[in-house]
Amino acid sequence: MDRWVEETFHPHWRVRMAADEVLHEVKTEHQHLVIFRNRTWGTVLMLDGVCQLTTSDEFIYHEMMAHVPLMALDRPKRVMVVGGGDGGVVREVLKHPSIERVMLVEIDREVIDTALTYYPEIPSGAFDDERTVVVIADGRKFVAETDERFDAIIVDSSEPIGPSAVLHTPEFFASCKHALREGGILVSQNGLPFLFPGHLRDTTRSFASLFDHVAPYLCTQPCYFGGPFALNWASDEDEHLDISVKRLAKRQEKRGIATRYWTPILHNAAFALPRYAELVVQPAIAEGRSDRAAAKNGRGNAKPAKKLRA
Ligand code: SAM
Repeated sequence: MDRWVEETFHPHWRVRMAADEVLHEVKTEHQHLVIFRNRTWGTVLMLDGVCQLTTSDEFIYHEMMAHVPLMALDRPKRVMVVGGGDGGVVREVLKHPSIERVMLVEIDREVIDTALTYYPEIPSGAFDDERTVVVIADGRKFVAETDERFDAIIVDSSEPIGPSAVLHTPEFFASCKHALREGGILVSQNGLPFLFPGHLRDTTRSFASLFDHVAPYLCTQPCYFGGPFALNWASDEDEHLDISVKRLAKRQEKRGIATRYWTPILHNAAFALPRYAELVVQPAIAEGRSDRAAAKNGRGNAKPAKKLRA
């Protein structure tokens, strides 16, 4: 074993993983990056002391980031992934046959290059697909300036630290809304609600100040220690949230998409929040609604607040 590699994100406790072999370690222009082998987790990527992915369980997060919004859409064609330089989300997006264009906006070229070198099974050819466009840029700036419009925007950022902090701001989410076509879906990673309820609260409030429908959902990501992991969802179209298991199963079959975590039943079940998370989400939605009303009042009459999905 080379050494122990520590996750330094949590203020009062630490996770250490044995690095049987450190494959690559560098301070890039944007962040500290280390890739190592671990007997339990396989190949592990850590950025700025936070575990981003392991080859043993990455499919969980990547499937839930991609298939929950895309299975909810009839024929998704254009998708933007912000962050996600490991290629896992793009891999899953490209499984949907109606996809014509996936734009990956990643700030750090090193993340893409090291993915291709040390765990090519994660992108699995996604970067070479003719439908994929890779842009090396700060997602905040790119999304604010793009003229393109997307059916879905998937924010596969790291935690709200370092270069990723700007991808968790109301301004960035407002730019995302602007870059979505009408009725499009925005999904963003949203951290560990049990340990970081403020992260869930702030993103939910931002989403509720911009969109008619907001619904965080959860997945169980073993290498993100600290309970269920939250992904947040927003759209102005409520039908995307009201899809039967039967219809989801038909779509999966018709699209010929094999999964190892996402299922039609789990798709809907993932939106059922534990009470401690609901107690964060419900007031945040109400606050977002009043932010929205206040903004509109600044320019005229407010729309009544909408209830959270039961
Ligand atoms: N699943 C991981 C998680 O939830 O922590 C995220 C994985 S992905 C590797 C995060 C990516 O976001 C990294 O490749 C990082 O370089 C990229 N990133 C961070 N800040 C960014 C920014 N401002 N614009 C675009 N990409 C950014």
